[in-house]
Amino acid sequence: QQWAAAVAAVRSAGLDDEIQLICHVNPDGDALGSMLGFGLGLRRLGFTRVRATFPGDFVVPTPYQRLPGADLLVPEPDAFADPRLVLVFDVASESRLGALAGRLAAAPASVVLDHHASNTGFGGVRLVDPQAAATSVVADGLLSRLGVPLDPEIAECLYVALATDTGSFKFDMTTVSVHELAARLIATGIRPGEISRQIFDSKPFGAMKLTGEVLGRAVLEPAAAGGRGMVWTYATLADLERYGQPPYVLDTLIDPVRSVAEADVSVVVKQVAAGEWSVSLRSKGAVDVSGVAVSQGGGGHRLAAGFTGYGEPSDVVDTVRRLVDEHLN
Ligand code: 5GP
Ligand code: MN
Ligand code: MN
Repeated sequence: QQWAAAVAAVRSAGLDDEIQLICHVNPDGDALGSMLGFGLGLRRLGFTRVRATFPGDFVVPTPYQRLPGADLLVPEPDAFADPRLVLVFDVASESRLGALAGRLAAAPASVVLDHHASNTGFGGVRLVDPQAAATSVVADGLLSRLGVPLDPEIAECLYVALATDTGSFKFDMTTVSVHELAARLIATGIRPGEISRQIFDSKPFGAMKLTGEVLGRAVLEPAAAGGRGMVWTYATLADLERYGQPPYVLDTLIDPVRSVAEADVSVVVKQVAAGEWSVSLRSKGAVDVSGVAVSQGGGGHRLAAGFTGYGEPSDVVDTVRRLVDEHLN
């Protein structure tokens, strides 16, 4: 019945009403892909005033700037002040909406599309499926119930979202239905090889050098996580500056770190400001890192989560080391 309520919420808007789409701060492929894919779907339905945004600095990672529907994106100050309908994508908690949380609360109708186990249950109609591999799975479900057929542009957006959140169809959530959705998306004529190259394999030389330096200082702690092992590293704003790279190039740094065989838990601590760090956590199963993150005011999934930490990287890692032991499965 949540589907019916979501369809009704969308249909409650007139074709010329203001519709605001919002995804989480520092958006990733799932946040942007599911939001823009859905935004294109609304256009196909005849809605004329659709804008998409996210809180904070208006930095769209280069690979996502050419997503179909990127023209829907506006910086936070240009978002509709008083939209008739708000749709929220890939957001686990209102804190990830910044000041835009007020826009959601004030809207006559709203729908939250998400897949985080830690979702706090905010917003009007809540389409939150922790079994979904990506928010784009939920977006596809709502688009089909609205009668929007997939086309190559919508499909490219949803494919990028699905490929991002499944680690290119590698993670545990990569189910039969994930591949069935991927098959329907590819059947529209999109080219997975080309899209993957653009999204995952097009990094500036400086980003590779930066990654090399940050990986070079990684520390392995075999005794941590109840003897299952933990590996961690950190990156500072000075590191980014030295290589002339924007912060988002570190979004995928956790991937090589989590590949270390001797560690069940992997941690990347990324500086956001003086004494403030964005912490990425991954688990291979021994630890519920979502629990770790939630206890620090963050969120995520059982095997992938994050939070904001404070102090020096060693302070943050001390906290993680202790919490990881408390959250052993
Ligand atoms: P990542 O490590 O790739 O940034 O994030 C992994 C997962 O944890 C994602 O599902 C992301 O939404 C969630 N996550 C990361 N950082 C935070 C945070 O500060 N707060 C919340 N609520 N979730 C986060
Ligand atoms: Mn996300
Ligand atoms: Mn997601």
